[in-house]
Amino acid sequence: MDTSSTKKIELHCTNCGYVMNYVSRQTTCPQCGENILEAHYDMEVIRRADWQKQLATRKPGIWRYHELLPLRNLDNIITMGEGGTPMLKARNLSSMLGLKNLYIKDERQGPTGSFKDRQASVAISVLNEMGIDEAVVASTGNVAIAYSAYAARAGIKMWTFFTSQVPGEKMREAALYGSEVIKVTGTYDETKAVAARFAEARSIFLDRGIKSIAAIESMKTMAYEIAEDLNWRTPDWFIQGVSGGMGPIGVAKGFRELMDLGMVDKIPAIGMVQSAGCAPMIEAFKAGQRIAIPVENPQTLIATLSTGRPGRAYELLWDIMQKWGGAAESATDEEAFEAMRLLARVDGLSVEPATAVMFAGLFKMVRNGTIKPDDVVVVNCSGHTFPVEKHILDDQWERQVDVSKAGRTISLPEEGLLSALEQVDKAVRRVVVIEDNDDAARLISRILQTRGQYKVEIATNGPQGIELVRQVKPDVIICDLMMPGMDGFQVIDILKSNPELDEIPVIVLTAKELTPRERDRLSGQIDTLLQKGSFLDEELLQSIIRTLQ
Ligand SMILES: *Cc1c(COP(=O)(O)O)cnc(C)c1O
Ligand SMILES: [Zn+2]
Repeated sequence: MDTSSTKKIELHCTNCGYVMNYVSRQTTCPQCGENILEAHYDMEVIRRADWQKQLATRKPGIWRYHELLPLRNLDNIITMGEGGTPMLKARNLSSMLGLKNLYIKDERQGPTGSFKDRQASVAISVLNEMGIDEAVVASTGNVAIAYSAYAARAGIKMWTFFTSQVPGEKMREAALYGSEVIKVTGTYDETKAVAARFAEARSIFLDRGIKSIAAIESMKTMAYEIAEDLNWRTPDWFIQGVSGGMGPIGVAKGFRELMDLGMVDKIPAIGMVQSAGCAPMIEAFKAGQRIAIPVENPQTLIATLSTGRPGRAYELLWDIMQKWGGAAESATDEEAFEAMRLLARVDGLSVEPATAVMFAGLFKMVRNGTIKPDDVVVVNCSGHTFPVEKHILDDQWERQVDVSKAGRTISLPEEGLLSALEQVDKAVRRVVVIEDNDDAARLISRILQTRGQYKVEIATNGPQGIELVRQVKPDVIICDLMMPGMDGFQVIDILKSNPELDEIPVIVLTAKELTPRERDRLSGQIDTLLQKGSFLDEELLQSIIRTLQ
C-alpha cells in the first residue's frame, strides 16, 4: 500500500465557506466559529488515477476508498473488515409493500453489529495517527461499543458515557472491551455535556460525534458501496432511522463526491424516520422549518434514537432535502416493535429497535404514496438486535414439553411423548390459497406459518384450487382474482354454487383495481377484499381471524 502522505485535504466551513488545510485537531472555523467543517479532497488527482477501474481490483471494506478518507498514512488504519455489507433484496417484505426494488443495506453485518463500525474504524484510525492514547465518547449505545472494540485493537483507553436509558447489555459489551463505562442518569444531550466536562477537566481527547470529520467521512462509504452495487447509479431513496443525522448527511456527501467525479448523476431523496417520542427533525420538517425545536424530555424506549437537540445537523439535512427531495415520518415504539417482529418473521432479519423505527416509517411512506412501487429504495438496516431487547416478545414465545412425568428419558414411552406433543400442536386451521404468483403465495404462507396454527395448502390455478378445496374442506380460502385460464371470479362462482363448499369463507387478495361491476359481482360472495402490495401481516391475520369467528 502506498502511504498517501502527500494527499491534499482541505476543510471547508459549512457556514461561511472559509477554506483551510486539513489538520485533524481543527474543530472550529477560525472565521465564524462554526463547528461542522467538511473535508474536501483533490478530485482531479482521483479522476486522473482512474479510480473506478482501480476499485474493481480492491478488496471489499471501507478502506478501499482510502483516497477519499481523512487519513494521511495508511499504516495507521485500524480495521476489522467493516463495510462491504451486502444489499439484500427484500423478498417477502417487497411483495407485502408492493415495492419492486427494495434493497436492505445490511449494516448489522459489521464487526460489532451496527453501521457505527464504519465510524469507529475511521475515527480510531485518525486517533491512532494523531498519537492519542486516551479518549472520551458519549453515546446512545452503538458508538461506544464500536469505539471500544476498535480502541482495544489500537491500544487506546476509552471512557464511554452512556445515557441511563441504554440497555444494560450494551453497557456491559463496552465494558467487556475494556472501556470505562459511565452511566449518566439523564438524557443523551445531558450525557454529552457531562462527557465534555469530564474530558475538559482531565484534558482527554473528546470525540465530537457528528461534528468530527471522521464521522461524516466514514458514513459516506455507504454511498460509495450502494452506488457501486447498483452499477454506479443513485437509488431514488435512502431511508434511515435518524438520531443525530450523521448517516444521511454522510451518505449525501458521498453521492455528491461521486457526482463531482462524474460517476453518478444525483443524490438520493432522503427519507428520515424518528421515534415519535423524540422527533424534533420530523416535526420541523413537516412544519416546513429549517430550525428544529429541541425535545428536552425524549419519551421513547429506543435510546439509540434519543437525540433531542439536533442543532446544525438538521439544518444541513434540511438543505440537502430541499434540493434533492426527501420525506420525514415518525413511528411510535409500538409501531417499531411490530415492524421488528414482522421483519424477523417474514424476511429473517433481526434488527434493533432503532432500525425497526425506520421500517415502520418506510411502511407509512409507501402507504401514503410518497414512495412509488417502481422507486429504487435502499434502507439502512443499521443495527442488529443482539439479545438485549427482551420486551419485544410476549410471554408466550416458548412452548414447553415436559417429558419427565412420562418416565426416564432413556426409555421414554411413546404415548407420553405423543400426548405431550399434542399440547404443542392443537387447533389447526386449514387454509387453501389459490394464487398463481409465487411471491404472493410464499408471503401468505409465511405470514400464516409464523402465527397460530395454520396449515396452508397452495394451488397455482383455478381448477387445481377448486379440487384442493373439495379434498381439504378448509376453514378459509384465500383467492387471487387475476389468474390465467379460470380467473378468481369464476372460481368463486363455482365454489359458491356448490352446497358442500359454499359456507367456506373466502378472502380475496387482488392486485387489480376493481370496477363497480366487478365489485357487484363479488358482493355477498366474499368476506374480505385485500389489495395486494399494500397490506401488512397483521391485516391479513385479522381478516382471517374475523372470518373464522
Ligand atoms: C446511530 C444509530 C442510528 C442513528 O444514526 P444517525 O445517522 O447518527 O442519526 C440508527 N440506527 C442505529 C442502529 C444506530 O446505531
Ligand atoms: Zn466559517
